[in-house]
Amino acid sequence: MMIKIRDGLYAFLWESSRENNSNAFLIHENKTILFDPGYSHLFSHVERGLEKLDLSIEDIDVVIATHGHPDHIDAATAFGKPTLFMMGKEEYEYFYKLGSPSFRIPEPDVLLQEGELNIGSVQLQILQTPGHSPGSLCLYWPERKALFSGDVAFDRSIGRSDLPGGNGRLLKESLQRIGQLDVEYLLPGHGNIVTGREAVRANFQMIESYWFSYL
Ligand SMILES: [Zn+2]
Repeated sequence: MMIKIRDGLYAFLWESSRENNSNAFLIHENKTILFDPGYSHLFSHVERGLEKLDLSIEDIDVVIATHGHPDHIDAATAFGKPTLFMMGKEEYEYFYKLGSPSFRIPEPDVLLQEGELNIGSVQLQILQTPGHSPGSLCLYWPERKALFSGDVAFDRSIGRSDLPGGNGRLLKESLQRIGQLDVEYLLPGHGNIVTGREAVRANFQMIESYWFSYL
């Protein structure tokens, strides 16, 4: 389902419980940025959402993957030049060090690390937030107080830390870090969006009081 979160910010929420796929998000300002295109075989759900906005995949300037799991990154192969593909440097190296992932990762045009990323007028902060995967990134858009949290933080839940390269202690530290940000829109890789500063704060409090004991 495509929803408008606010001007220039859209979500393509994955709602089927029969098949796993990630949510995708779109910033449509003077540049158009797609976060986590999801699985290739389920990519039509993103394409349908784009159509509703009178956009097509040719209109996407940049595709950013929050991390290297196939349910987030697989459909990055659907894009050709001049669309740029960006993902975390550490995550890219980890998946290549592992040797032969069962899915193809496109060659990134930009390898992201902690710090600022300016795409047109959109200024993003990249946070290295390991724990779910070794090079997981959260991307914070201060101008709109939006946090693309990948599989680090969800609505009332957190990402798994038992997958290859996962680490519970690091996930806890990452959650503590992003819990300090001033966020009005928590935009996770799966499940519901959390809207409103108070709701986001309550969500991180719930995560801390309930989930931290499992990490
Ligand atoms: Zn994941």
